[in-house]
Amino acid sequence: MKTRGSLIVLSGFAGVGKGTVLKSLFETREGYAYSVSATTRAPRPGEVDGVHYFFVSKERFEEMIRNDELLEYACYVGNYYGTPKDYVESRLEDGFDVILEIEVQGALKIREKVPDAVLIYMLPPSAQELYERLKGRGTETGEVIAKRMRRAAEEAKNLEQYDYIVVNDDADVCAGRLHRVIRSQRQRVKSNLPFIRKLQEELKELNERNVDSSSASHD
Ligand code: 5GP
Repeated sequence: MKTRGSLIVLSGFAGVGKGTVLKSLFETREGYAYSVSATTRAPRPGEVDGVHYFFVSKERFEEMIRNDELLEYACYVGNYYGTPKDYVESRLEDGFDVILEIEVQGALKIREKVPDAVLIYMLPPSAQELYERLKGRGTETGEVIAKRMRRAAEEAKNLEQYDYIVVNDDADVCAGRLHRVIRSQRQRVKSNLPFIRKLQEELKELNERNVDSSSASHD
């Protein structure tokens, strides 16, 4: 019996290292699917269309909204970001745990639409460490870094709406933590209802058979 995968929302401040941790997770563990988002922001050096994001125009993004092609979307630091619906649904059906790497507004929309989704927040070991990582990335201007740090402070206010946190002090160790949280979802009662119902049926049948045979032996 194929169990439907879990829908996993992973959020974290810009620069916390979500990409590196996910790379480690995907390289070392099986059964995961990554949802590639659509965005109107420009590609950063090294980013590939269809791999990191689907880079689309504002017009195309607004068309996707109108056509109901997105599971959720949000505006973040002046650009649209959204999750294409079809891919997520088909991978969940195939039993993969699907990871959406999205920000808080989108995560909360997912919580409303898909109550079983698991919301995980990745945190840096400290605020100073986050600032150093953003600066070290060298791809954004000082102004954008400052904007992202202010946004982090805003986002931190929503942390209690998430189910789990994972601290990224080391990418491989953090990938292990993330994997354990995600895999533990497979043991949830809710995720195993078909199996539980089958077992209940089997117990009922077996007990009925035993009652029959024990009453037969008294004849
Ligand atoms: P970045 O521009 O650094 O790649 O992403 C900025 C933020 O947008 C990150 O917090 C990232 O997780 C979030 N993001 C990426 N894709 C999506 C999406 O499809 N939906 C939403 N709501 N946020 C997204």
